[in-house]
Amino acid sequence: MCIGLLKKEKFEIVNNPQDAEMIIINTCGFIQSAKEEAINCILEMAEYKQNGKCKYLVVMGCLVQRYKKELEKSIPEVDLFLSIDEYDNIWEKIAELIGKEIKSKNTLEYLDRIISTGNSTAYLKIAEGCSNRCTYCAIPYIRGPYVSRPKEDILKEAKELAQKGIKELIIIAQDTTKYGIDIYGKLSLAELLKELSEIDGIKWIRFLYAYPESITDELIEVVKNNEKICKYFDIPLQHFSDNVLKRMNRKSDSKSIKKIIEKIRNEIPNVILRTTMIVGFPGETEQDFFELYEFINETKFEKLGVFKYSREDGTPASKIKNQIHYKTKQSRFDKIMSMQKKISQIKLEEKIGNTYEVLVDGFSYDNKYICARSYMDIPNEDGTVFIKNTGKVKQGQFINCKIIDVKDYDLIGEII
Ligand code: SF4
Repeated sequence: MCIGLLKKEKFEIVNNPQDAEMIIINTCGFIQSAKEEAINCILEMAEYKQNGKCKYLVVMGCLVQRYKKELEKSIPEVDLFLSIDEYDNIWEKIAELIGKEIKSKNTLEYLDRIISTGNSTAYLKIAEGCSNRCTYCAIPYIRGPYVSRPKEDILKEAKELAQKGIKELIIIAQDTTKYGIDIYGKLSLAELLKELSEIDGIKWIRFLYAYPESITDELIEVVKNNEKICKYFDIPLQHFSDNVLKRMNRKSDSKSIKKIIEKIRNEIPNVILRTTMIVGFPGETEQDFFELYEFINETKFEKLGVFKYSREDGTPASKIKNQIHYKTKQSRFDKIMSMQKKISQIKLEEKIGNTYEVLVDGFSYDNKYICARSYMDIPNEDGTVFIKNTGKVKQGQFINCKIIDVKDYDLIGEII
C-alpha cells in the first residue's frame, strides 16, 4: 500500500537498495527471531548511506510500534521511525524529512496496489489486529483489537487485483476465521469466500491462520464444494496439552482440536492440513510435550512449523516464573522437526503417480526447471513442484503435471 502511495507521488521504485535514495524498511516485532531479523536488516541497509546513494533511511511497522524510543537511541543512522499510530501522518513526516511538498492526503486509503509477490499471486488482508489475547503473543498490544475490513472494500480490491492479472488470492488476517464478527455480528468468512470466488479471473483462493474454534460447518462446506477454494486448511494450533492450552489462553482444548481435525479430514478428501506449534512454553512438562508429540505423530499433518517459545515483553506468559531452559526448548524442537521430516516424506511419496493442476510461479535460476505449486502448497512456506522446462510455458500459467519423484520437501513432475 505504501509502495502504491509512493508511485502516485511519482517516486521511482527500484529493487536494488544500492540504487535507492530513500530506503523504507517495514518491520515485524512479533517474536525474538523476527526482531533480530529486522534489526539486522536495518543495520545492513544503513550501510547504503555510506556506500550507496541512500540519503534517507525510514523504518516503520510493528518493531517501531513496540520499541520506538529504544530504536531512536540505539540506531541513529535511521532518519525517521514511523510507528503504526503515525501512519495517518505518513506524508507529513516524509515531506518534512525530504523537504518536499507532497500532494497525497494523509491517509492510508486503498490506492493502486503494487504487487510484490510476483504477477499471479496476491495476499489480501481482510482484518487488522486481534482480540484473542493468547498469553504469549504481543500482537494484540501492537496492533490493537480485531477490526474487519468492510466486505465491499475487500471485493473492490480483489476485483482490481484480478484485472491486473492476479489468479491466486491468499486471504490473511491475524485470525481469518473471526472475519465479520465485529462489523456484521457473525462469522462471515464463508460468505466472503463465496463472493470472492465469483470474481472473473481469480482461479484459486486460500485463507491462512484459521483459529480452530471459529471454523464453522458452513466454512468447511464452502472449502469442500467451491472449486476455486483450495482444499487447504492452515490452523495454527500452538499446542495439544490441555494444561498448556489453558495457560496460553487458547479457547480450544485437546477434545475440540481432535474433533475439528476429524471433521475436516472426513468431509474433504485429500485436504491439506497445516499447523504451527510452540515448544517450551513456560511450565511445559515432559508429559505436556509427550502429549503434543503423540498428537502430531497420530494426526500426520501434511505441513507443520514449530517455534521455540519466545519471551515477549509485556505479555502475561513472560511473567510466568517457570521458564524453560533453551536447551530443553531446542531438544523438543529437534524431536518434532525430525518426526515431521519423516511424515512429510511419506506424505509426499504418496503423491507419486498422481496428476495435479499447478500454477507456474517462475523458473529455476538456470532456467532448466519450471517452479510451480499445486493447491497443496503456499508460496515461500511450503514446497515447489519442479518440472523440466520445455520453453513453452509462461509464468502465471496453469498446467497439468504428473508427479514422478520427491526431493526433500519438494516434488518433481512432468507435463502431461
Ligand atoms: S490468535 Fe494469533 S495473533 Fe491473536 S493473540 Fe493469538 S497468537 Fe496472537
